Amino acid sequence: MSFLDYYDPLRTTSLYVHIPLCLKKCAYCDFYSVKSDSDLASAFTKKLSEELIHVVDYFHKPFYTVYFGGGSPSILSIKQLENLCSIICKYGKPEEFTIEVNPEHLNYDFVFLFSEYFNRLSMGVQSLSAEVLKTLGRNATLETTLKALEISQNIKEKTGIKLSYDFITCVRGMNSHPLSDLEFLINCFPVNHLSVYSLTPSENAPLFKNGRYRELTEKTQAEMLKKTWLYLKENNFRHYEVSNFAKNNEVSKHNMVYWNYGQFVGIGPSASGTSFRNNNVFRITGRADIKAYINGNILTEYDIESLTSEQQCEELIMLGSRTDSGINLDRLHSDFGYEITKIPDYYKKINNCIVPDGDLGFLFSDSALKTMLFNMAKSSYL
Ligand code: SF4
Repeated sequence: MSFLDYYDPLRTTSLYVHIPLCLKKCAYCDFYSVKSDSDLASAFTKKLSEELIHVVDYFHKPFYTVYFGGGSPSILSIKQLENLCSIICKYGKPEEFTIEVNPEHLNYDFVFLFSEYFNRLSMGVQSLSAEVLKTLGRNATLETTLKALEISQNIKEKTGIKLSYDFITCVRGMNSHPLSDLEFLINCFPVNHLSVYSLTPSENAPLFKNGRYRELTEKTQAEMLKKTWLYLKENNFRHYEVSNFAKNNEVSKHNMVYWNYGQFVGIGPSASGTSFRNNNVFRITGRADIKAYINGNILTEYDIESLTSEQQCEELIMLGSRTDSGINLDRLHSDFGYEITKIPDYYKKINNCIVPDGDLGFLFSDSALKTMLFNMAKSSYL
C-alpha cells in the first residue's frame, strides 16, 4: 500500500522534498545527509522524480507551499532541479516555493529557476566571521559567503523573489561582539526573513565529540539571545517563532503549515509528513537510508504511525508553544477534548490562546512546554 492512501486529497496540502546530499559534513550537523557524487545524485533524482509523479497526480491540484530542504538541494544541477520543479508544477505553481541554497553553490545560472519556479530563496549564511565559519566546519569561506549574499540580492532584484537568511548564534568566538555580524548582514544585505538558531550540541555531530568544543554557559547564551532578539525587534522584525523573524509579515508560509498542524507530504530519505484521513492523523517518515530509497519500490521506504488524540494534542501544544500566536485552547478542546489547567511562567492567555509573554516566553519555551504537558487534562466540560 502506498503512503499516499493515508492522505486526504481534498485537503490543502504542502510538500517538503528532502535532498540528503552534501559536499561534506559540517562540524555541528546531525541531520541525515551523505556525501554526494554525480552518480548518486542522478540515481537519487531519478527515483525522486518517479515518486513525485505519483504524489502530484494523487493530489491533482497545486500544492499550497513547496520546500526543497536538506542536505543541500542546491548541490543538484540546474537541469535536475528544473526537472523536479516541472513535475511538481504540473497542476499549477504553489503559493510559496522555497529552495535552501548553500553559499558555495549559488551563481547566476539559478536566475532561470527563480524566474520560472522558486519564489523564495533561503540561504544558510550561518556567520560572517571567518573564525566562526571555520569552527562550524562550513564549506563556504567568508569570501564565498559574501559573494553569494551579493548574488542573492541581485537575483531578488531581477526576479522579485523573497529572501531568507539562516544565522547561527551562541558560538564560542563570537561572544565579545555577538551582534556585529548580524548588524553587518542586515545593513548590507536587506532581508525580510531571518532564522537565527543557537548552536545546539548533538552527540552525533563531530564538533561535540570528545569534548572538542566547549559550549558557552547558559547565562552567556541567554544574554546573547536576548541582545540579538532586542536588536531585531528594534529593526522591525517580528519575532514570530522561537528562531524565526519576519518584517512586513513575510513569514515562512511553509513553516506556518507545520506550526499550525496542517497536512503536508514529506518525500525523500528521512523526510517526514503529516496526513489526515477519516478523522485519523498519521506521521509518515522516510527511512534515513538513501541506498534503500534508491533501490526500493516507489513510495514504500516510509514508516507510517497512527497518532493517538493524546499524541496529536501534545504535538499541537509543542508547536504552538514556539510561536507568537500560541496554543489555541478552543481547538485543543473541540478537536481533541483536552485543556491546559495551568498557564506556565512567562506565558499569558489572550483570546483563549496561551502565548509567550515576549522574549522571556521564547527563552523559557522548553520549560513552559513541560509545564503545559504536565498540566494537560481531559476537558472537564465535555
Ligand atoms: S549543515 Fe546543511 S550543508 Fe552542512 S552537512 Fe548539514 S545538511 Fe549538509
